[in-house]
Amino acid sequence: MKSFPFALVIHGGAGAHTDVEYKPQEAHIRKTLENGREWLTLGVSALDAVIMAVKALEESGLYVAGRGAAPNLAGFTELDASVMEGRTRRCGAVAAIRKVKSPVEAARAVMEKTSHVMLAGSGADNFAAEAGLDLIDDPESYYRPSAQDQKAAAKRGAELSTHGTVGAVALDIHGHLAAATSTGGTFGKRHGRIGDTPLIGAGTWADAQVAISSTGHGEYFIRLCAAHDIAARMEYGGQPLRQAADALIGSLGRLGGDGGVICLDKNANIAMPYNSQGMKRGFIRGNEEIFVSTF
Ligand code: ASP
Repeated sequence: MKSFPFALVIHGGAGAHTDVEYKPQEAHIRKTLENGREWLTLGVSALDAVIMAVKALEESGLYVAGRGAAPNLAGFTELDASVMEGRTRRCGAVAAIRKVKSPVEAARAVMEKTSHVMLAGSGADNFAAEAGLDLIDDPESYYRPSAQDQKAAAKRGAELSTHGTVGAVALDIHGHLAAATSTGGTFGKRHGRIGDTPLIGAGTWADAQVAISSTGHGEYFIRLCAAHDIAARMEYGGQPLRQAADALIGSLGRLGGDGGVICLDKNANIAMPYNSQGMKRGFIRGNEEIFVSTF
């Protein structure tokens, strides 16, 4: 059987600020990528790899996702996540959930255990409980918003919300792609606000050709249908990955938005453009040296 060059690309959010250090996040991204190399070498599917990577990022409390999520203006956390498998175009998402430890696992459960693509609010929380996912007993003691991300948010000023989503895209040795994204949303968001992260085509996309995960000011990513826009430029416009990804970031800037995307195509080409000050990111590809950087 032909085996393909595997790759895993992850991001820890585009809400990075040049005055702030992101050493803990960079070390954690490196560790997650090392684990990812082992999983993919063993033949784990792209779908499993992105779920395991995003779950590790969520659990760490180092990013604005999962355990690191910050409360909304009403004082409590609401989380969003989505996942998509390229070969089958199966996908699942959850929005504004409050009780689940791993939003990305809840998104996968929606994909695999229901006939729906997205569940929101208490219905999604109840579904996750029925599906046997780990729940949060005491939100007060569970959440640990990262000091670095809060500092970055403060530096950007009260009028601008900032962000620190996590995401992963993977290509497995069978040549299949998948993408997943998870977030606590933007700092200072309203109760009920849902961003791009759980929206298939905006925050997350995977097809047979390319997998994409977005991070940034979600409202702009929704208006651009950002992740799918990159795939469409490749599919209908014949653009190579990097050109398509750069074009999307160009459109984002012209609209007044900021953020970045991680993209991986079926030939293991990688693009990670952003127009924010930084984006915590990294990748492994086959036996190449690990790449990790924020700026
Ligand atoms: N895109 C996310 C949202 O708007 C935030 C982020 O990427 O950090 O909810």
